[in-house]
Amino acid sequence: MKMHIEIDKQRLKQEIDTLAAFSDAVPPAVTRVVFSEQDLRARTWLKQRYVASSLSVREDAVGNTFIRWEGSHPDLPAVATGSHIDAIPHSGKFDGVVGVLGGLEAVRALQRSGFRPVRSIELVQFTAEEPTRFGIGCIGSRLMSGVLPASVDQTLQDSSVETLEVVRTRAGFGGDLASVRLPEGYYSAFLELHIEQGPVLEREHVTIGIVTDIAAPASFLVTLEGQGGHAGGTLMPGRRDALCAASELILAIEGLACSSGAVDTVATVGTCEVHPSAINSIPSRVKLGVDLRDTDGERRNRVLDAIKNAAEQISQTRQIQIQMEMLNADPPASSSPRVLRAITSACSEMEVASRQIVSRAYHDSLFMSRIAPTSMIFIPCRSGVSHRPDEYADIDDIAVGVEVLARSLAELSCDLTWTN
Ligand SMILES: [Zn+2]
Repeated sequence: MKMHIEIDKQRLKQEIDTLAAFSDAVPPAVTRVVFSEQDLRARTWLKQRYVASSLSVREDAVGNTFIRWEGSHPDLPAVATGSHIDAIPHSGKFDGVVGVLGGLEAVRALQRSGFRPVRSIELVQFTAEEPTRFGIGCIGSRLMSGVLPASVDQTLQDSSVETLEVVRTRAGFGGDLASVRLPEGYYSAFLELHIEQGPVLEREHVTIGIVTDIAAPASFLVTLEGQGGHAGGTLMPGRRDALCAASELILAIEGLACSSGAVDTVATVGTCEVHPSAINSIPSRVKLGVDLRDTDGERRNRVLDAIKNAAEQISQTRQIQIQMEMLNADPPASSSPRVLRAITSACSEMEVASRQIVSRAYHDSLFMSRIAPTSMIFIPCRSGVSHRPDEYADIDDIAVGVEVLARSLAELSCDLTWTN
């Protein structure tokens, strides 16, 4: 599509800096947990930006925010983009934000260019992409796509043992959680602009990554119960040390991920709580938090089964009770060929270097792909660093990503051949 599009880099950079200041951490670190006071202040500030651009704003019962630019055929399924603004403790200012403020700038750039959408264009600001508060990620997009039932309103709790229902209602988002679900065919396409959170684009001096697949994530808790005792008084024979058993399991998990037959299998034991955690006491109980991912969902499940078997064996040989509690086990997602084509042709119009890439982190797009043809646009981030205060993306790269997004949205907005 022949169009002259200019991205207002200076304003976008200022907006990214301003949003980063809504934070509970000392700069440059950012902490913005969903439904915290800073999150709510950030939402209010963003809403003012949306309204100032003559866009309509709708919020659903969990606080997902839909910013709409009405097309000439408002009855047709809209084209959508979006990402999240919540930030894990002591992280950076680009993860998620680039897709929200970049999405807004894409819309504004199209407005300035004189473009008029045929299908409406929507920007979605998702609630709780990060698992920080409720232990599970992508709550907003899981509810939208029907992956989570409305009953999580009562079952999900934060560390203060307050339910999602209590927390969201206090934040001003009331109503039935079942109403968050979008009907299939609500969107004709969904695209998410995001930093890569990996080193590939920077290493290869490529500005745009066109995401073909999103790896399948799974996470689970393992509780090991043994027998405590005095570290001096209890002799080694017959001990049932829960931490020694956990150590065996941790190494087994690493080994099973390494021997899956593919480099795409990754497993991480990221948390380990030891009870009673005293230097002169035998650990009686250990709780591990495990993250397992793969681009191939079946291979991921085979490794998961092998981990269960290893736990069973360790349980028998060490006389330790081992329980596993799955937090999530989602299938992988493949991008829509139609959306990939739109992104690819935007890159060639702009003569910008691009390559296809797999997303190893998961995003709201993983769940949006259940209800809409979906893909993602990646831009480089310095040294592949993310979820750290020194996370950094160059404004020139961000601007290229925003223009690719704008052109893709414009093309998909004018495609009337889709009837869904
Ligand atoms: Zn993100």
